[in-house]
Amino acid sequence: MQKQGFEFVRLVGNERRVGTTLASVSRHWQSKKEHFLVVSPHDDDAVLGAGLLIQLAKRENVPVHVLIVTDGSMGYCSLEEKDAIIQTRCGESFQCYRSLGVPKENIVRLDFPDCRLNDYRGRRPAKPGDAPAICSFTGLQNSFTYHLRSVRPTQCFLPTWNDLHPDHRIVYEEFLISLFHAAGNIWPELGKPLAGVPYVHAYAVYCDFAAPPTLRMRAPQSYLDNKLAAIESFRSQRQISALIENVRHYGPEEYIKALEFKLYHPALYRDMFEERGAISVLR
Ligand SMILES: [Zn+2]
Repeated sequence: MQKQGFEFVRLVGNERRVGTTLASVSRHWQSKKEHFLVVSPHDDDAVLGAGLLIQLAKRENVPVHVLIVTDGSMGYCSLEEKDAIIQTRCGESFQCYRSLGVPKENIVRLDFPDCRLNDYRGRRPAKPGDAPAICSFTGLQNSFTYHLRSVRPTQCFLPTWNDLHPDHRIVYEEFLISLFHAAGNIWPELGKPLAGVPYVHAYAVYCDFAAPPTLRMRAPQSYLDNKLAAIESFRSQRQISALIENVRHYGPEEYIKALEFKLYHPALYRDMFEERGAISVLR
């Protein structure tokens, strides 16, 4: 592998950091503690949007977990496939992510009903047969909090909030609040709280980023070949052929955007309300 085939460019304000490793351009790299969690609303999203990133993490010995949220039950393209589609996609997803170097035990399928995530927002006591239950509760925030506390990632990656698919939008909203649940003291049965909120980044699958990305990753062609081969594990997903062409066409590069939480700081607004020598009306 040619070393010059790897290039990472991170934009931080006016600064352009360039390096040949993720670690070299990162602001908060924690060396051996680094641990990535890639959230995939549907089984094929993570490889489409972050199939190079997953391989690049492995190159720097960073363990990667893939969390697949839905069961894929609505992703059938022929009536013959309909009844077995969950099983089919389960096999395809393990084949895909294992081929990118993710160990089997790090690939988790939550199996929430595809296209019905709206019914699973939040957290509630599980009724009999309510899928999927952990510690007698169900809901996306329940599962995300549990898995965040189990995996204890330093960095998380998930599709952009403005993606067209409602499942992607719901996962984005539910996962971001779960980061704060996981780092807080609530719901102790779901595991020991995280020491802090992990860093989080968006990757793009169907739609452009809502605001420009902050990191470009370039890898040798062999990484793209591996990514395309991994995508092709999803033989049942014939509807993604246009996306595969897009991936092939743009070559061995991916973009991600670091997300910043804008927590409430009243001081930001203080000056707006100060007298500026103009018209003050006392009442
Ligand atoms: Zn998807």
